[in-house]
Formats: sequence, structure tokens, C-alpha cells
Amino acid sequence: KDGQLLSSVVRTLATQSPFNDRPMCRICHEGSSQEDLLSPCECTGTLGTIHRSCLEHWLSSSNTSYCELCHFRFAVERKPRPLVEWLRNPGPQHEKRTLFGDMVCFLFITPLATISGWLCLRGAVDHLHFSSRLEAVGLIALTVALFTIYLFWTLVSFRYHCRLYNEWRRTNQRVILLIPKSANIPSNQQSLLGLQSLKRNSKETIV
Ligand SMILES: [Zn+2]
Ligand SMILES: [Zn+2]
Repeated sequence: KDGQLLSSVVRTLATQSPFNDRPMCRICHEGSSQEDLLSPCECTGTLGTIHRSCLEHWLSSSNTSYCELCHFRFAVERKPRPLVEWLRNPGPQHEKRTLFGDMVCFLFITPLATISGWLCLRGAVDHLHFSSRLEAVGLIALTVALFTIYLFWTLVSFRYHCRLYNEWRRTNQRVILLIPKSANIPSNQQSLLGLQSLKRNSKETIV
């Protein structure tokens, strides 16, 4: 539905644009002064030209590999970004804060739980020596409860962050567009039209 909305917006922009005679990128609406424009899919006219970087960025964030308008499937190579990059910038501010908070908690609670667990067990052993069984059992139960809570919390937060990391990795891949050099759009319109008819011809021969 979003794609449909976007394409209708793009379409109205394209028809209203005063720069109809000049090829421009359909995402950032800039010309070919900064970066060469490509015509990588079946779209024609003002919708047919796009910057490589704009397209790669869009394919990465939308996690697709085809054109939203003509559904042409692009040849792309996806490379996952390293874990370090996620740790440095895991996304929105609140996720960053949660990750940092949980890591600090983990580093703080782990030695605390270990020390108190060890003290409890030592106390239990001492009580056993003086044959006060009830206190020994109580201390062991306390140790078990402590570790259960600790393990439960660690597992829950670990799974939560794993889920966020997987989501991040899925939508933040480095996308490299694999297109032949001949798909580059030359600046003059004559050859642009030539390319489009060529494209149409090749489509017909395939059909
Ligand atoms: Zn662009
Ligand atoms: Zn297209």
C-alpha cells in the first residue's frame, strides 16, 4: 500500500515537475551534475533515471531488490554489515540507551551474582558443619533463586537484543547494484530515446 502511495506521489511529481525536459533522479530530484544517472529498470521518462547511490540506499532500507513501479528485479549483491557497526549505532536513540543500560547491568550484576552465590554456598556448608540443616537448605534455596532470576534476566535481554540485531542486519545490508556499464544514461536526449527504444526492442525479442 505504501509502495502504491509512493508511486502515485512520484507520478504526480513527475507530471508537475518543471524540469521534465532534463533527466533527473526520481528519488532526490537532482540532475547528473554530482553523480551519473542510470536507467536500470523498465521505467521510462522522468521515472526511468536514478542515481546509483540513491537506488542502493533505497534498496537497502526497503529490503527489496526490485523496482516498486515496474517490478523489474535488479541484480544486487547484499553484504551484511559487521556487528561492531551495530554496537556503535544500533538504531533509534531509545534502542541505543536500552542496549547500553543492559550491557552495564550485565557487567555489574554478573560479578555481584557470582560473589553472593559463592557466599551463600559457603554459608550453607558452614551451617551443615554445625548441623543446622534448615539454615543450610534456606541458603541453598536462596542461591538457586538468585541464579534463576539472573539467568532469566540475561536470557530475556539477550534474546531481545538478538532480535533487534537481526532486524537491523536484515534492513541495513550494504547493497551493491550489479549493472553493466552500458546502462549509463548519456546526457543527450537523442541517445536516451534510442536507449529506450532499444530496451523496448529487447523486451519484444524476449517475449
Ligand atoms: Zn538521486
Ligand atoms: Zn522501474
